[in-house]
Amino acid sequence: MRQSELFTRARREAPTDEVAKNAKLLIRAGFIHKEMAGVYSYLPLGLRVIRKLENLIRRAMLALPAQEVLLPALQSKESWLATGRWDKMTDLYKLRDESGREFALGPTHEEVVTPLVKNFLSSYQDLPCLPAGRPFAIFQFQTKFRMEPRVKSGLLRTREFLMKDLYSFHRDAAGLKLFYDEVINGYRAIFKTLGLESSTYLTLAGGGTFAEFSHEFQTLTAAGEDRILICAACHLAVNEEIKDKRPTCPGCAGELSPPQTSIETANIFDLGTNFSRAFNLTYRDENGARQPVLMACYGFGVSRLLGALAEIMADDRGLVWPPPVAPFTIHLLPLGPAAGRPAAAARELYEQLQKLGLETLWDDRPVSAGEKFAEADLIGIPYRVVISDRTLAVSPKVELTERQNSGEKRLVTVNELCAFLG
Ligand SMILES: [Zn+2]
Repeated sequence: MRQSELFTRARREAPTDEVAKNAKLLIRAGFIHKEMAGVYSYLPLGLRVIRKLENLIRRAMLALPAQEVLLPALQSKESWLATGRWDKMTDLYKLRDESGREFALGPTHEEVVTPLVKNFLSSYQDLPCLPAGRPFAIFQFQTKFRMEPRVKSGLLRTREFLMKDLYSFHRDAAGLKLFYDEVINGYRAIFKTLGLESSTYLTLAGGGTFAEFSHEFQTLTAAGEDRILICAACHLAVNEEIKDKRPTCPGCAGELSPPQTSIETANIFDLGTNFSRAFNLTYRDENGARQPVLMACYGFGVSRLLGALAEIMADDRGLVWPPPVAPFTIHLLPLGPAAGRPAAAARELYEQLQKLGLETLWDDRPVSAGEKFAEADLIGIPYRVVISDRTLAVSPKVELTERQNSGEKRLVTVNELCAFLG
């Protein structure tokens, strides 16, 4: 993409109404726009990262295997009354239309997915035994709403947010456990791809109303709102909220670290028969008797992850995207006048990179070299390719810089560049 065609512009100054580093950086670099407190728009650069995060998570969900759906954000009050959460959940957005009818704006989708599945699940044959059978599991990417009283952490805590939520349905606890562990493995692989594996901990947490414990994935960052105690030996953690119940490591019973600040990037709840009982979701077993279905749900905060990456993977010059989810792979910066030799060489290289399928942002704007470099640092695309009279002087070369390894610049030929990045 030509940068001159991007309608967003990087800002020189950080927004004054944001406290959080992630929001300051993402707004300055033109990834997001603040509509109001806790509500953001995703602009072309930010949406490219969101779509890549979604696709990374989607691939992991399809591999489980689970099937993708899209459920409504507008939900019936009756379903929320059936589970008792219409009154219990204090951060639920409630709407009333002109006729006086009330609705919930969904912060989660058990109240939709459980009655939905009831239409398609009746016999034990619909719930094959795992691991041999195919799991009954449904996931979606959805805009969710939560009536947050305080929103000062940028994308880490918002009133409207993007989430992946997965729901699984089981005939027995053993099958649920197998699938639950598969999802944990899938989540671990996602954090590894993002380069967050060493700073992200599978964490034992309070189970809320459903079970004694739940699991969270907590990523260490000073901007987080949780505190976890870490076992260095097992790479497991315990949420501080439950420390009294479980003061040692859940893996090796060893000693835990002092509390460290973190953000919950994903979570997993064993829902037991809580929701299936509320909606009378049952299956007929081999003897014809009705049995309640066991359920679990598995969340992954997509927009929160965008915020966490901006918070963690940044330096004093700007954002530093991990290559798998960067908005573009290459930032192409020709220096000098539009009619100059570097500009012509950049046009040629851009076309070559397009043919190779390498996503390139070409800064074709008539601005100074200093401005191009400062914006490129701020936007944080992994590989910067500079073409100038200097790089073309002796033999036709380009200067390649890796954003993650910002000190190192090397002169390479176009063929070497394509071989390295392709
Ligand atoms: Zn341990």
